[in-house]
Amino acid sequence: EGRETRLRVVLRVRPLTCTETRRGDQQVVHSLGDGAVHVSAARHDATFGFSAVFDAGASQEAVFEGSGMRQLVELAMDGFSCTVFAFGQTGSGKTYTLMGPLAQSYSQPASPALLGLMQRSFTCLLEQSRSRGSDLALSASYLEIYNEQIRDLLSPGPPCALPLRWSKTRGFYVENQLSVEFESLEAIVSLLLQGSQRRRTSAHALNRHSSRSHALLTIHVRNRAVSAHPAPGEGWGAQGSERGPTWVLQAGACPSKQGTLCFVDLAGSERVKETGSSGELSLEANSINRSLLALGHCISLLAKPRGKRTHIPYRDSKLTRLLARSLGGSGITLMVACISPSSRCLSETLSTLHYASRARRVTTRP
Ligand code: ADP
Ligand code: MG
Repeated sequence: EGRETRLRVVLRVRPLTCTETRRGDQQVVHSLGDGAVHVSAARHDATFGFSAVFDAGASQEAVFEGSGMRQLVELAMDGFSCTVFAFGQTGSGKTYTLMGPLAQSYSQPASPALLGLMQRSFTCLLEQSRSRGSDLALSASYLEIYNEQIRDLLSPGPPCALPLRWSKTRGFYVENQLSVEFESLEAIVSLLLQGSQRRRTSAHALNRHSSRSHALLTIHVRNRAVSAHPAPGEGWGAQGSERGPTWVLQAGACPSKQGTLCFVDLAGSERVKETGSSGELSLEANSINRSLLALGHCISLLAKPRGKRTHIPYRDSKLTRLLARSLGGSGITLMVACISPSSRCLSETLSTLHYASRARRVTTRP
């Protein structure tokens, strides 16, 4: 607590897809073990190091256990603000890593072995909350940033833009976002699936279900026993009517603990030329690229030693404002960089690897 800690950055290399195999793409990324990965192609030869590398053979469970995700869940329960974000080119496996295969719905669940970091974290969270025996209240909110507008993925009806505000105590926050309480795995998984269906996706050349927005699912972990609440039986009634309810802390309570666990599925970076996007699609691509550029810019400035840092331009995009705490503030952050092993993706892969290596130097003070 209070000490500088580095972002934890892990790398996931997905297997070659059927299309890539069929057209004979070369595999240019090789895991060397011990968190090292080697990229070798005609004019490129480079090695990068990460906290962990998961290659094509790594199961979803191995990624959950080896990435530090379980510890992140526990830290959120201890009151820290934790964030995991998946980053990488479109089609590199970000959504797969976070949620598992796309073809899943409530009536057609994915096979348990294929479930992603999110569902595994929910299970872990609910198990832990039962075994700790503490009175935890869990709730979830789910937002997307589409064309620089924030939309609530949990509120029914047509999407409307929510304002992003800043206050001294809360930092950047989204006003009027819906937060839904849940107590079971079924309930949170159903919120996740409902929200994901509302997310903007459009098909283009690289990925048939490409996400066109950044999505942020946040689980709020609040300790009921220690947070200020109307005393039982008093509510909004009689004696509290003029002044509102009487707020009490239960005897022997320590200061209230409120942790968060946020999952960020970034829209993929892409080059408009490669994906054959035009019109509305290229407007989307430009907003996506602009916010990813802003994120990259913040990360490279944050990667400098604290004494040498200049102003960090979080205000350049909604994404960086929402991630300000996770990147440079009091959060604890895990970044999962996702890449394709194919020779055709080489330049995007190298850019993801450079970006991810830079992020390893970023520190926060949880
Ligand atoms: P992104 O979200 O980065 O655009 P996706 O997660 O949608 O990419 O992945 C693109 C495709 O590759 C999907 O069909 C997905 O099922 C497949 N895929 C990604 N990662 C893996 C993996 N580790 N194992 C098997 N298939 C994968
Ligand atoms: Mg995706």
